[in-house]
Amino acid sequence: MPSSPSTPPDFLLVGGGIVGACLAEELSATGASVVVLDAGREPGRSTNKAAGVAVPSLRYLSDPEFYGWLRLAKKDLDADVARLEPEYGTFSVARPIVRALRQSDVDAHGEALEGAGAGRWIDRDGLAAAGPGLKLPDSRRYLLDDGGLMVDGRRYLDAVRRRCLAQKVVWHQGRTVREVREERDAVSVVTDEGTVTADRVVITAGAWTSGKGLAEATGIRPQRGQMAVLRSGERLGGIFSSAYYLAPGVGDDVVVGATEEDSGFAEHVTAHGIGQLLRFATTVMPGLAESVPVELRAGLRPVSGTGRPLAGAVPGRERVFMAAGHAGHGLLSARHTGKGMAAGLTEDDWDALPYSMCPDHALGGSA
Ligand SMILES: Cc1cc2nc3c(=O)[nH]c(=O)nc-3n(C[C@H](O)[C@H](O)[C@H](O)COP(=O)(O)OP(=O)(O)OC[C@H]3O[C@@H](n4cnc5c(N)ncnc54)[C@H](O)[C@@H]3O)c2cc1C
Repeated sequence: MPSSPSTPPDFLLVGGGIVGACLAEELSATGASVVVLDAGREPGRSTNKAAGVAVPSLRYLSDPEFYGWLRLAKKDLDADVARLEPEYGTFSVARPIVRALRQSDVDAHGEALEGAGAGRWIDRDGLAAAGPGLKLPDSRRYLLDDGGLMVDGRRYLDAVRRRCLAQKVVWHQGRTVREVREERDAVSVVTDEGTVTADRVVITAGAWTSGKGLAEATGIRPQRGQMAVLRSGERLGGIFSSAYYLAPGVGDDVVVGATEEDSGFAEHVTAHGIGQLLRFATTVMPGLAESVPVELRAGLRPVSGTGRPLAGAVPGRERVFMAAGHAGHGLLSARHTGKGMAAGLTEDDWDALPYSMCPDHALGGSA
């Protein structure tokens, strides 16, 4: 059912980052009419700044339910790579990933690591083969996973958005939503250019989701991430992840990321943040000392109070939903979230989203 100005769409999404784009594509694939309103001059305010490691982080090993959900998300992302890249161009680089762990972490999580299929331990010879040019301390243990993946956020979003447009999703840039008002039979969405109505609304506004008039009491906050892109004659054999990461870019560049800072909505790079990243890069790979920083970026990851995404009905609302709070795993898990949300919204099947991500449950019914 195509939407027109006189026909309220089945779904209106507030925010066109990777989370909104994947959800828009999933919803429109069911035959629903979908409109996306995004405030920016271009979509994906945080997504566009992201390029990095799209595999489940070992920091979630102690939370088996969420780690398992992220592993399922990786399968959906792999499917996106296989499906979208031939049509819309390359947005990922598949390379083995080497992760450095402190002995204390190995002692604490050894069994979980073995059971999680997170890779195999390698010695110095294995390290030299997997990461030529890396200069790493003997005090760490190194885990090699052949299934590493680096994703460029801007290119991934561009591919998904183009897929959305091909499926007749109506997508408007430069439309800031000021208020979402639930009425008895529809939802009114107030923008600077007038009010539009929709049957149901999903707030996918990233770090801005808890802004005034949107999903106000849901506690999504920004976390700044800075990263640098280096141009160098050095080539990375794979992805290297420790306190920060080094990853091959989609071009020939090297991506160094990323800081995690509680800096409110300050969205700029800082001397301190970039300094830390460059020090890390040149210590771990001395050959990068002569590289040229060609791009410095900062973006705001959306983070929830539980550290997990919040996906489902906004507490106290019947027609207003949210999908936000993807923190440092939004590229990895946007598609999986989109599939789970679409099943919930169109078939009332919420099983693909852990109950811990249900906003009402996560917020203790307090929002
Ligand atoms: C430096 C950096 C590195 C990262 N590295 C990784 C990584 O390695 N792996 C990984 O998986 N993830 C990574 N991430 C995280 C990932 O980028 C985010 O989780 C993801 O992009 C969030 O997507 P989103 O759609 O929720 O938000 P966004 O991309 O920010 O999209 C939300 C959109 O909503 C719009 N909006 C906001 N308010 C309104 C309004 N009132 N009306 C209309 N529109 C509105 C904004 O303009 C924006 O375009 C990284 C992030 C950063 C910053």
